[in-house]
Amino acid sequence: MDNDLDKIIRVICPEHGEFKIRNRDHVGENDEGIAYGCSECCGFIKDVHFD
Ligand SMILES: [Zn+2]
Repeated sequence: MDNDLDKIIRVICPEHGEFKIRNRDHVGENDEGIAYGCSECCGFIKDVHFD
């Protein structure tokens, strides 16, 4: 399962389109404990979505 967290995943922002992010950062399993989304949408979001 840890391998999945280090995978680079593809997410589609409804505003800005497709981008890539490390799964760990997307779900908030990182040092910051923050779930990041589209960097153009103010850097991070609370509600994560997978494509
Ligand atoms: Zn966006």
